[in-house]
Amino acid sequence: MKHRGYYGSFGGAFLPEILIPTFDELVAAYENARNDPAFWNQYQQLMAEYSGRPTPLTFAANLTRHFGGAKIYIKREDLNHTGAHKANNVMGQGLLVQKMGKKRVIAETGAGQHGAACATMAAKFGFDCTIYMGEKDVMRQRPNVFWMEQLGAQVVPVTDGTKILKDAINQTFRDWVTHMDTTHYVLGTACGPHPFPEMVAWFQSIIGKEARQQILEQEGRLPHKVYACVGGGSNALGLFSGFMDDPVDLVGVEAGGKGIDTGQHAARLSSEDASPGIAQGYKTFFLQDNDGQMKETHSISAGLDYVGVSPILAHMHEIKKARFESATDTEVVDALKLTIKTEGIIPALESAHAFAGAFREASDLSGDQIIIINQSGRGDKDIFTVAEALNDPEWKTFIQKKAAQYHA
Ligand SMILES: *Cc1c(COP(=O)(O)O)cnc(C)c1O
Repeated sequence: MKHRGYYGSFGGAFLPEILIPTFDELVAAYENARNDPAFWNQYQQLMAEYSGRPTPLTFAANLTRHFGGAKIYIKREDLNHTGAHKANNVMGQGLLVQKMGKKRVIAETGAGQHGAACATMAAKFGFDCTIYMGEKDVMRQRPNVFWMEQLGAQVVPVTDGTKILKDAINQTFRDWVTHMDTTHYVLGTACGPHPFPEMVAWFQSIIGKEARQQILEQEGRLPHKVYACVGGGSNALGLFSGFMDDPVDLVGVEAGGKGIDTGQHAARLSSEDASPGIAQGYKTFFLQDNDGQMKETHSISAGLDYVGVSPILAHMHEIKKARFESATDTEVVDALKLTIKTEGIIPALESAHAFAGAFREASDLSGDQIIIINQSGRGDKDIFTVAEALNDPEWKTFIQKKAAQYHA
């Protein structure tokens, strides 16, 4: 059976036989939606009413002055309902599930951000919802687990393998195989088998469509460069898609972790450490060893800590349609601190990678050049990680006192 969804040699749909009819049904529903302007209107309307779209394009006057180079604009995906661009994807898939007449959604989650977004969508649409999460992540991410359960989702800790995201993905596919008739798998990023990369990128293209129109309204011209962080690649593809046919430099920033030379990072396209392979139903660059075993990745931001990457971005990398850089944990925390102090905006640690990448290049540009940074999410969720990274003494005392309360 031949499936669409190749980007050069990347992508595809490597599926167990039993799932093929379900994927055919999904591809058909997606293609119907894609060819129906009324669907996109309905989606836009939903995102306007429920998620506050269009999100603003904010001119960062203070950062611009600080670097003395290009004019810096920030696309504010942090202002979405639930605090990140993930809302675009889950609400879009929710509409599609409704069209397919299914009543149950399942999803994988690592840090819990996608799980919480998916549980929110399920509550809104009235779907049953099961979220698979590695047991280790369940323990590390109690606040998100708490909210998913309050939203009515069942959170299932996955005890297989290394008990993290990739194990949760496998478990979600196993659930899907046994409940295909009633259930849709809401994949969280522009990865996985066709049609997920294309479909998720399509829902996220709302970011780029808005950003292009907004910069033309606000400045009367296109930006020179646009920056986005790259985990699975969905927020980057969302922004890039607005400028695909323009002479705009598309820059993706991956997690450089503790530094590329330490091996503790998640740089798949911006390092030499990843190689093409097939896993989790699709072909892309994976951080894997010579035997095809997935390597351990590291990033200060949970959302960028992933072994694979969108096959669409892998292809854009190969044909040099986009450029990929990395930013280390230290650079990211510095970029975060600067943005908070100068603009009063708290980017998510993930998004702060895009800021770090842009800050490195902003002063080399001239004052008549424009850059746009995608702020994929808001940073208040990262208080535990950031306070620890900054070694804040008052915070430590606070946490110790809280813990002591429960021991008493
Ligand atoms: C999940 C997440 C990401 C990474 O996902 P992409 O698919 O690469 O966009 C980036 N930023 C935030 C705020 C996230 O929650």
